[in-house]
Amino acid sequence: MGDYFERIVDVEATSEEAGLLAERVVGWMVAEGLITRERSSDGVYSLQVDDGYKPGPNWERAVADSSDPTWMPGPVAVIVGRDYHVGGQGMSEADSATCPRCEARTVIIDYPEEWEADQEVWQPFSDGIDTWKETGEGSVICSSCGASVPVTEWRFASEFALGALAFDFWGWPPLNTGFHAELSKQLGHRIEVQTGKF
Ligand SMILES: [Zn+2]
Repeated sequence: MGDYFERIVDVEATSEEAGLLAERVVGWMVAEGLITRERSSDGVYSLQVDDGYKPGPNWERAVADSSDPTWMPGPVAVIVGRDYHVGGQGMSEADSATCPRCEARTVIIDYPEEWEADQEVWQPFSDGIDTWKETGEGSVICSSCGASVPVTEWRFASEFALGALAFDFWGWPPLNTGFHAELSKQLGHRIEVQTGKF
């Protein structure tokens, strides 16, 4: 179970505030006994960081079902910095992107006919995301309405999210909805939840 993750992405934090927010949330989770300050790289496969905080004595409080006594969760990795995050099988493209101005949906992976992204369609999004990662701003022109829309406003299909702060819970049982809500409150931001395997 060690190669399974649940990731929570803060989709509203700016990179300027992400470091302080990460500190605050880690402090809160330590105070709640969900994690400790001790760090470990065992079972951490996050792309951006090598280690995470080991689970604390009250880790069960954050999960939906802790009835399996053999299930010991792994570390919680904290990822600070603008990046795109993918769940599922870890494709580096989104399935689709919906324009928030005109609601037109751009299909990037045309399931079930195709299992790979149309690179020509994806390219402007890829470029926009790269620019956003570098500078904090990046836009893609909507092919339907012509509006230049920031990449952070495009609505990507599930399991693809942009954010400057994310938490990877490695090997934890599914987190409960109360914990999701509390974490979102601690952050003061909207979150997106992803699951996947390394
Ligand atoms: Zn549009």
